[in-house]
Amino acid sequence: MADPVRVTFLGGLGEIGRNCAVVETAGRMVVLDCGVMFPDPDMPGIDLVLPDLAYLREHADAIEGVVLTHGHEDHTGGLAYLLRDLAAPVYGSALTLGLARVRIAEAGLEDRATFVEVMDGERRAVGPFDVEFIPVTHSVPHGFATAFSTPQGVILHTGDFKIDLTPVDGRRTDLARIGAISATQGVRLLLSDSTNAEEPGFTPSERSVGATLRRVFETRPGRRIIVTCFASHIHRVQQVVDAAVDGGRKVATLGRSMAKNLELARRLGILTVDDAVLVPIEDADRYEPGTLCILSTGSQGEPLSALSLLAAGESKWLHLGPGDVVVISAHPIPGNEWAVGRVIDQLHRRGAEVIHTGVEPVHVSGHARQGELQTMLSVVRPEYFVPVHGEFRHLWNHARLAAAMGVPEDNVLLCEDGDGIVLEDGGVRRAEPVPAGFLYVDGTVGDVGHGVLRDRRVLADEGVVVVVATVDTHAREVVTAPEIVTRGWVHAPEAEALLDEASAVVRAALEEALADGATDHESLRRHARRALGRLVGERTRRRPMIVPVVVTV
Ligand SMILES: [Zn+2]
Ligand SMILES: [Zn+2]
Repeated sequence: MADPVRVTFLGGLGEIGRNCAVVETAGRMVVLDCGVMFPDPDMPGIDLVLPDLAYLREHADAIEGVVLTHGHEDHTGGLAYLLRDLAAPVYGSALTLGLARVRIAEAGLEDRATFVEVMDGERRAVGPFDVEFIPVTHSVPHGFATAFSTPQGVILHTGDFKIDLTPVDGRRTDLARIGAISATQGVRLLLSDSTNAEEPGFTPSERSVGATLRRVFETRPGRRIIVTCFASHIHRVQQVVDAAVDGGRKVATLGRSMAKNLELARRLGILTVDDAVLVPIEDADRYEPGTLCILSTGSQGEPLSALSLLAAGESKWLHLGPGDVVVISAHPIPGNEWAVGRVIDQLHRRGAEVIHTGVEPVHVSGHARQGELQTMLSVVRPEYFVPVHGEFRHLWNHARLAAAMGVPEDNVLLCEDGDGIVLEDGGVRRAEPVPAGFLYVDGTVGDVGHGVLRDRRVLADEGVVVVVATVDTHAREVVTAPEIVTRGWVHAPEAEALLDEASAVVRAALEEALADGATDHESLRRHARRALGRLVGERTRRRPMIVPVVVTV
């Protein structure tokens, strides 16, 4: 009998972001990606959301390594937090490790990890598994699918992928190798990227964006062109640089991560830019508009990003005006649409022309659409299938695609964060779920729970009313008129009568409670809260947070 193998999903199944899974057998574990999620608008004050790391912390001694599929933050950004609690070797391509290292170094945790660079097609023993790193195309170079050879057969994880037949670097998704694994060993379990499972057809090649960019540049001679995209999208950056150089332009970078990633990618030989082409952003104003292209961060409308500052007229280096062209070579991540829309508006107010995907096809996705997902399913021919990486609707649609491709319906398992499955000799069963709630980061990790977030939402939506009352519990009387302080309920200077009424209502409620024999803090606070809450509701139809403070003398 072979040891069972368990796969546990800690994040990324039910949301786009914080991708993290664990593969384990015989008490030894390998972590597969550890990412962050960017907060929704309904998470006030939250910087980042992590996977629930409790399961990993509990088993810190069992963790033999972390495998990174690619360098995006939704797969690597959580490592800087995980490494606080454990030390482990981290496997990935040179670029992936280079990108991941930045945050780990910022957290001062570089000594907690050994970085193990792996090459395309390489096989490595990682803990109890033999892991093969298979090239895939995506919106960051040098991503991998990973094939785990386990006592229960091969588990193939696609990583984030698309099937780009003409990638900028010629490094295609290695369908031949995946087919060979399927033909020789067979794939017991396939875990596949579901992001675009609702989209029919095939995602266009990254190269098609290059053609569009070239046209945009050619038809706008003599004008300054600013292009924003993800700083990790090195192939996009390459195509912008190529279009710029062909048009006789120099290139400057705006935003810290753009400069950093350019340097990293050039050092690794992934990006080709002549030294003579790059000019410092400090000198940008010295160049004729038609001789310069600026590569900027901020494609997601992030409030303090280079592009937002530019749009607000607060950039240190550049001032936008009529004649300037801004190309937004990215799609907003769900949740960021509003912020991006606002930046586009601001750019237009400065007189700039803005080219986004609604105007020209200046972006394509890095994720496979239905046609590619079906191709993957037909090459892999898995015994079992779990759709990963997506909101529930994406997982659901991907599950349906798999069933349509002939994976028996009972062998398609829809899982969510916290779910696990166990591969064993007889088949596959579901494991006991593990904690997988959102772990909120605000400043330092861990101190923001659901309660804190709920309070913040009430404060943001309705405001707060504080009442401070001083009570003599021996004489059973309210010493002075309770004081009402509010933020966000009513504008106090204009609502004096209402505040006086509230004070009187609380006083009456406390006096009644004292007369009934209530002397403990908790019950006095409860009476005050109830009376004040009722008045606030009746008079204003609002439900601010009510905070009673009772001081006893
Ligand atoms: Zn990705
Ligand atoms: Zn991803």
